[in-house]
Formats: sequence, C-alpha cells, structure tokens
Amino acid sequence: MADLIVGVDIGGTKVAGGLMTMKGELRRAAIVPTRAAKGFTASFGQITRLIERLLARAGKKNRVLGLGMCAPGPLDPRQGLVLSAPNLPGWRNIPLARLVSEKFGLPAKVENDANAAGLAESLFGAAVKYRHVFYVTVSTGIGTGIIINKMVYHGKNGIAGEGGHVTIDYHSPYRCGCGTLGCIEALAAGPAMARRARVRLEEEHTTPSLLRDWTGGNLSRISPLMIQKAAASRDAIAREIIDQTGFYLGVWLAGMITLLDPEAIVIGGGVARIGKPLFHKIRETIQQYTLSPSFAAKTPLLPAKLQKNVGVYGAASLFLPAGFKAEAEF
Ligand SMILES: [Zn+2]
Repeated sequence: MADLIVGVDIGGTKVAGGLMTMKGELRRAAIVPTRAAKGFTASFGQITRLIERLLARAGKKNRVLGLGMCAPGPLDPRQGLVLSAPNLPGWRNIPLARLVSEKFGLPAKVENDANAAGLAESLFGAAVKYRHVFYVTVSTGIGTGIIINKMVYHGKNGIAGEGGHVTIDYHSPYRCGCGTLGCIEALAAGPAMARRARVRLEEEHTTPSLLRDWTGGNLSRISPLMIQKAAASRDAIAREIIDQTGFYLGVWLAGMITLLDPEAIVIGGGVARIGKPLFHKIRETIQQYTLSPSFAAKTPLLPAKLQKNVGVYGAASLFLPAGFKAEAEF
C-alpha cells in the first residue's frame, strides 16, 4: 500500500528532497547541488538522481503515492509545465511533471515554490490554526501564495498569487524584473533595500554610517543582513531603510488584507528575519492603509516557522488527500 510521498524542492543553487508519510511527517531529507549553470540536461539529471535515491530509501516503489515538486515560477501547475525559470538557464516550457512521471512510472505534480511554501506553512507551520492564509516570502525577490481552505488558489490560468508583482508605485523610477514599474518586489526585496541604502549614503555623503565603515566605502557591498546588523547597532540610515521597507510592505499588505480578508498572514524569507523593527512598522502602516483597520488589527502577522525544508513539505503536500486538515480544527 502506498504510504509515502516524495517531495522535491528545485532551486537555483540546490535541489532538496524528502519522503513524507501520509500523516505529514518528513523523513530522510537529502540535498544536492542543482548545477543550474550547466543547463537543463545537467540540472534535470540532478533532480532525477535525487528522486532515485529517495525511491531507494522508500524500499518498494509501490509504497510511493506520487512525486511532488516545486520550482520557481512562472509555471502551469495543472499541466505540470515550467514556463520559464530565471535561476534555471535552459528551462523554458519544460513539461516537468510528464518527464518525471514517465521516467519513474509514478504520478507527478509541480507547484510554484511560493505557493508550495504557503501551503506547507498552513498545513505544518506558522498557520496550522488558520484555513485562509496569505503567505509572503521576502528575500532576493518577493513570492506569495494565496491559501484558501488549506488549498492553493490558482486562478484561471494557474498563475494567481503573484503578489510580488503587484505595483504600489507606478511613478517609481525602479523597473521590476517583470518589466513593470514599482512592483513591491522592486521596492522592498533584499536587493531593493541594499539599493536604497546605497542611494541614501551617496546623497548624504558626509553622514557617518556603519554601512560605510563595514564596506570600506564600496557601497555595492551592502547586503540586507548588513543593514539589519547596523540597525541593531542604532545606525540611523540603516534604521531608516528598514522603516521604509516596513512602510512599503505595510501599504502593500494593507491592500492584500482589504482584498482577501485572510485569517492570518505568514511572512518568511531572509528579510523577515529582521524581526521586530520591520514587523512593527508593517503593522502600524497596515492600520493606515486598509479599509477596515479594526479587522486588520486582529489579522495575525506571523513569522514563518518551517525553515530550510519548507519547499519539500509543500511539494510533498501536493499528494496529501484533498482537504487534508481543511476542516479538522473547526
Ligand atoms: Zn514585477
């Protein structure tokens, strides 16, 4: 009887995988480099080798219900098609689910990585108590997932939930990677924070700052982690950058709350690790920009709980029975 699911998280630098039980417990996690720079054949080879290893650990193949995968979008989850993946050179219109399914003789599914992470947080992480969740991860980009009744909302074409490319400032001088002006990703993700710090320090070229000291004046070396550390040491410019990031995220999330009225918002990714000062500013700003501040004030803003295996959890969850935990606690 099938009682295990293979979950695989395909990233630009590494492919992580594991075996999940039907109770949602993750076992035997493994990780390999993606070898993305070597093109599709090399990175696909890494993925299939990892799956082979996991199937060997499962013992009999008929113990495995399916192969769930997640990859950077945009992709078509219904057809299991990766349309393009900026971090995976050569991946264009790849029928990933079909290729993997044919190779291993097992059903396979593919989901966008942020959607998978959102699903995982709602099933096993920060938002287990909530059915309707808005998930956001802020790191080198901004990925989001809309979870309704413990399931991913896909929209008509399977591309819903690309909240990082909702613009909040169409006058912005900053063009996003997607081609639009002022997407939240182009204003508040890690690289945007570093750029704002750089611009600010160039404008205020006589103002002392730890960021200037730590980079030896080479401002292109500023990282979000550096900004976080400088702010913790009371650096005025670093604090200003974090405040501004919280403001942008707050304006944007206020819109998401007005639109979706979620039961909870989960915030993950490297930038979210800034913690309190960022969350405080987000919360304060949401109050000013949402339609119903009294409801918004009660919407929990939760730091993500699942760390490095979040994608593996989410990918494997694609084969959990529909509605797993959906109404369980209500
Ligand atoms: Zn964009």
